[in-house]
Amino acid sequence: MYIYNSATRKKELFTPNTEGRVSMYTCGPTVYHYAHIGNLRTYIMEDVLEKYLRFAGYDVKRVMNITDVGHLTSDGDTGDDKMVKGAKREHKTVMEIAKFYTDAFFSDCEKLNIKTPDVVEPATHCIEEFIKVITSLIEKGYAYEAGGNIYFDTSKLEKYYIFNDFSEEDLAVGVRDGVEADDNKRNKADFVLWFTKSKFEDQELKWDSPWGIGYPGWHIECSCISMKHLGEHLDLHCGGIDNQFPHHTNEIAQSEAYLGHPWCRYWFHVHHLNTDSGKMSKSSGEFLTVSLLQEKGYDPLVYRFFCLQSHYRKNLMFSWENLDNAADAYKKLIERVVKVLDGKGGKADDTKYSELIKGFTDALDGDMNTAQAVTSLYDILKSDADSATKYKLIDDADSVLSLGLIKAAEKLAAEKESSGNEELPAEVAELLEQRKAARREKNFALADELRGKITALGYIVEETRQGTVVRKA
Ligand code: AMP
Ligand code: ZN
Repeated sequence: MYIYNSATRKKELFTPNTEGRVSMYTCGPTVYHYAHIGNLRTYIMEDVLEKYLRFAGYDVKRVMNITDVGHLTSDGDTGDDKMVKGAKREHKTVMEIAKFYTDAFFSDCEKLNIKTPDVVEPATHCIEEFIKVITSLIEKGYAYEAGGNIYFDTSKLEKYYIFNDFSEEDLAVGVRDGVEADDNKRNKADFVLWFTKSKFEDQELKWDSPWGIGYPGWHIECSCISMKHLGEHLDLHCGGIDNQFPHHTNEIAQSEAYLGHPWCRYWFHVHHLNTDSGKMSKSSGEFLTVSLLQEKGYDPLVYRFFCLQSHYRKNLMFSWENLDNAADAYKKLIERVVKVLDGKGGKADDTKYSELIKGFTDALDGDMNTAQAVTSLYDILKSDADSATKYKLIDDADSVLSLGLIKAAEKLAAEKESSGNEELPAEVAELLEQRKAARREKNFALADELRGKITALGYIVEETRQGTVVRKA
């Protein structure tokens, strides 16, 4: 598989440190609010990557942290603690907030067919590891104490700007959002490993340490949790593009200073989901969640399909119109899969299988081109292969794409059978679509009017737990 490595800024042949095995680390959510569908774009694409590596025969161990302490509103270690802010907003304790939003995150992941990583570790479970690594960094001369906090000294490194597009100007990230710069820092790019004095009064969770009672900085958690579960040599590290700097840059700095050797080989970054008002972000408070998509009548897997239709290294523009287009395309794809369901359990033609699966693997081998992988599904369905072969191809490809194709097709087939209607007349189908749109917009008066028109054409509309079903009166 060729994959774009952000550290070298090249597409490289993926070769893990140990043949046949992959250690994979993912930056997890900061659990002070619901994950928005932008965050989930990143997790969907990482999920495809993990599943494809498994499909390609690798034994993958994937680890993810849960950020439940230390992430401040400015990535430059100033501002409020996000968790404390969340707890205040909801009049709850930090741990209640953490539990609630961690559960909400995994529930969203389940709806989107995102597999839970092999290891999920909250930062608050690893305080001992953080203290061990910070102590060693101080001993090695890479960290210093100032104003009660412990800082990483970036001037001690030969090379700091690993994702090299960053300039001095970018370092001003530390003082953005109108919050005050931290005068304790010896160099602008230095970052906090352990807080004691700063923000102390606000902090609900704090632990004893050799430097006083306090709490860890955000960056140290990912280095430590990764090393704890995946050892000193990491194959693959993933995250959203905004994590490149300063978070991943700082992870590399402290991990390599601690280990004394290179740490992670491949860096995989997913670009952002944007709306016409810019990047979707939790802190802006205006964002879309999976539950909201469901309330508007969308199957969460339509959102997964929407994400897979574009490349992970391009920004993706969200609009309702784009999502509606994805919903239509997804529905049509499912209808085509219905036609190969009779191939279930049949004997696939090996030659045809190898010929057709190549379109799928070539797409993902080429820097995870999921849009092309989706196109390969259509190629499979319109090929001259028999149903058994097509069924197996779709089933196997979907073990990676996880669009729930077979399940959705079986459901649709069952609905068609029970309604006794193979195809609805075009006029009824069109009215039905309009009615769905009206319901999504919560325009129930219009929805009722459209139901009346459908009834007048001799059809009955029923709301079932599986969605709207239409059958001949
Ligand atoms: P957070 O919960 O804020 O720590 O973010 C969780 C993950 O979502 C990180 O990998 C971020 O880089 C990523 N992320 C944040 N905003 C977006 C966005 N608008 N589009 C895609 N990924 C994002
Ligand atoms: Zn991280």
